[in-house]
This record gives sequence, C-alpha cells and structure tokens, in this order.
Amino acid sequence: MECRINARELAPGVFCLTDRMGMHMTLLCGAAQALLIDTGYGFDDLNAAVRQITSLPLRVINTHGHHDHACGNDLFSQVELAAAELPICADYVVSQRERVWRQARERGVDLADWHQEDYLRRGCGTLRALTCDRMDLGGLTAHFLESPGHTPGSLAVYVPERRLLMTGDDWNPTTWLFFPEAEGIACLRRSILRLLALDFDWVLPAHDARLWPRHVLQTFYDATSPEQLRAHAVPASGMYPGKRVMLIHPQPGHSLYYDADKAEPEPPDMSAPKAP
Ligand SMILES: [Zn+2]
Repeated sequence: MECRINARELAPGVFCLTDRMGMHMTLLCGAAQALLIDTGYGFDDLNAAVRQITSLPLRVINTHGHHDHACGNDLFSQVELAAAELPICADYVVSQRERVWRQARERGVDLADWHQEDYLRRGCGTLRALTCDRMDLGGLTAHFLESPGHTPGSLAVYVPERRLLMTGDDWNPTTWLFFPEAEGIACLRRSILRLLALDFDWVLPAHDARLWPRHVLQTFYDATSPEQLRAHAVPASGMYPGKRVMLIHPQPGHSLYYDADKAEPEPPDMSAPKAP
C-alpha cells in the first residue's frame, strides 16, 4: 500500500488529508495529542500520512459509519464512533468494498499497488463506542456533538479555538438524506439548528475541503423549511431504488436530496373553510 495522500494545513493545527479517491479526512494536532477524523476509502497508507505530520499520541474517530469515511479504519489500533453507528459501520465497510473497487476502476484511479482480493477481505477495524463528549488535545479542543440526520449517530466536531465546525455528511454542498438509515429532513434541521447555536465562523464539510463561511449553514436551514420544500422541491428520480427522493437547491450550486417519505407531515391547512 502506497501513500498518495495530499495534506494541506487549513488553519493552525487543522490539516486536510485527501486520499487518492478524493475523499477528505481532518487531522487536528494539539500540543499533547492528535485526533484523526475519518479514514477515507482505505487505498492509501493514512497512518503514514499522519505520522509525516505528527508523532503525538493519536486517537481516531468516524463522523459516521459510511464506507467512504471508514474503509481505512483497520490501519489503526482502534476507531471510536457513536454507539448507534457501530452496526452501520460494520455493515457498510464490508458490504461496499466491491462497489468502491469498481468505482475506483471506473474513475481511473491507479490501484497498481493493490490486489483486489486484499482490498475486499479487509474488515472495519476495531470499533469502540465513543464515550466522551470532548477531547482536550492541548490548546485545541474537539467537542463531539450528536447530530442525527444523514445517519442516526452522525457526529459534528466543534473546535472553538479555531471557530470551526466540522459537519461530517450532515451538511455538504451536496447533502444526501435518502439512505435507509437516514433520518428525516425535520430531524436534520433540528440538528443544524442546535449547531447554529454554537459560536463558530467556519464550516468544514466532509466532501469539500474548503472552509465555508458560517452563513452557508444558516442558509441551508432557512431554505429547507417545510414551506420552502413545498414551494421549491422537485422529484429526483433514480437516486435510490424504491425511494421517493426529492431535490431542493438551498442556494445556487448547492443541493439537498432527501427522502420525501420521511419529510415532516404538512401542517393543517388553516385557510380551508370550516364545516358548518
Ligand atoms: Zn455518509
């Protein structure tokens, strides 16, 4: 396994690591320990990439259990994630590897350092339920916030010293909320509203390695109210077999795909004439 990870320091002690599939992980380096957030598709020696940046004691978490965040878990001695995500991670990381391999080939990703069977037989690593709500890294603190939405146990990570909020997959420029384990749009909006109560300036999502200004999250919240969904959402066919997926653009160039059958029930129509 080679290491073709690109590392960039986005803010002091905040590194974005991008694997050969284009998936982003975040490494937080304090004065006393380091924290790796997500492990990507697992084609690259992520441990080596981390060790090129820091020799501090390392803890590793997954924002949630999907395979694009966790296929590299087995490169580390253990990985912590919300208890609700343990079965999701164990399932996705094993069941999706063949699909990941196929996608990598279709995209022309160089896999010359891999034998297919070696990649497919890898497990999900040693998973542990995350039991703390923060880690003091020394001058940097990672706060873990339960943010059900994209999955039931999704975590956001807040670093007050950098005025930074990491949203995992709960908010991306393209947000997906239609997998069987996804919560409804109302649940995601409640999580976003709780996050908006925090004092931050920057948002770092999992699938886009730019620091976004805080207002993108407020705009997302405002543009996905039941009224806005009724007025602007359109069907998005073919996103997931058997699901009635709808699409709305919270702002130009941004998308939310959600499961319409998990959407908020419509409030009663108060304008309807009352029966005598
Ligand atoms: Zn995900």
